[in-house]
Amino acid sequence: MLIYDLNLPALETLMREWNEPAYRAKQIWQGLYQKLYSSPEQFSNLPAPLRAKIAEHCTFVPFHVKTYLDSSDQSTRKTLFQLPDGNLIESVLMRYGDPADDPQMATSDTNRRGAKNRRTLCISTQAGCAMGCVFCATGQLGFKRNLTSGEIVAQVMYYAQMLKEQAETVSNVVFMGMGEPFHNYENVMAAIDILNDGEGYKFGARRLTISTVGLVPQIRRFADEQRQVNLAISLHAADDDERLAIMPVNKRYKIDDVIDACKYYIEKTHRRVTFEWALINGVNDTPEVAQKLARRLKGLLCHVNAIPLNPTQGYDGEATDRQRAQAFKETLEQAGIPCTIRMRRGIDINAGCGQLAGAESQ
Ligand code: SAH
Ligand code: SF4
Repeated sequence: MLIYDLNLPALETLMREWNEPAYRAKQIWQGLYQKLYSSPEQFSNLPAPLRAKIAEHCTFVPFHVKTYLDSSDQSTRKTLFQLPDGNLIESVLMRYGDPADDPQMATSDTNRRGAKNRRTLCISTQAGCAMGCVFCATGQLGFKRNLTSGEIVAQVMYYAQMLKEQAETVSNVVFMGMGEPFHNYENVMAAIDILNDGEGYKFGARRLTISTVGLVPQIRRFADEQRQVNLAISLHAADDDERLAIMPVNKRYKIDDVIDACKYYIEKTHRRVTFEWALINGVNDTPEVAQKLARRLKGLLCHVNAIPLNPTQGYDGEATDRQRAQAFKETLEQAGIPCTIRMRRGIDINAGCGQLAGAESQ
């Protein structure tokens, strides 16, 4: 069994089954999530027979590193992991606030302060994805399977252990790698509960962001659960026909339904929603589209996160250039909708969602 699949109560049950005292569970828990041990031998506070039993029954590393790539400016590392069943998933670490950072970041005082030494980790929740967004490399792969909670947690621990060697820590985690987190709801929430645990890794919910294609029932469920995790919705179009052309999910959930669910979420949590927008040249980046979007979002506690499209093999759309992106942002802001243009990170290493796994499987 994968040790990261066990939450603390499950670990306590296991210790009972093994006739070990209950406090052993907490010792293991703290070893895993506070000391960031990555193998049974490191648990020097446990008796040798118990260490041996853990080694016999538990896996600590659920994947092997198939490839990793660093961007030319060293700010971004992308790792492609292979799971035992052959499936590939990927995670990306982005370092912000380094001298090597984007020049725009480095020249803005606010950005520099806000972004100082941030280590943001982008992790996968599924191998592949069933949602089929046409511009997305993961969507082009199709669905392989859900990741277990432990496979999700293990991606964070992999990077946390690596950063620890450099006396650094993970500062933010975004569920924006491969897969649709709300299509694997239970396992994603179980992973979040493990990462949050006050006696373990203690990773605050506000440092986590879930990005969803807009599965309405799950947005409402998430609102009811009143979690402090940030929510981002991938919208990408302001008109149902236009959205359907690039996102098949719009057949099931129309833009109005998604926005109603967001209103419900805001009412319940008083938290701001982020709308993700991949800027595709000539498709969804015109001033008219920006105005239509502004009308839809008016009065909503939200902001728009726009990022020029990362080109993928299976889709011939192109990225919007800097000037058009700026005009899109200004149109939105004049209509009262806050908007940031995110820089494309790791473009030279195909750090866009699913791109590395996509390339490997071809
Ligand atoms: N399935 C979730 C989370 C993973 S995708 C979702 O769709 O929200 C993370 C983000 O990357 C989403 O906003 C998605 O729309 C965006 N994305 C996917 N492919 C992209 C591409 N080629 N260029 C830019 N953004 C992309
Ligand atoms: Fe799946 Fe998100 Fe890619 Fe759409 S954008 S195919 S939901 S991973």
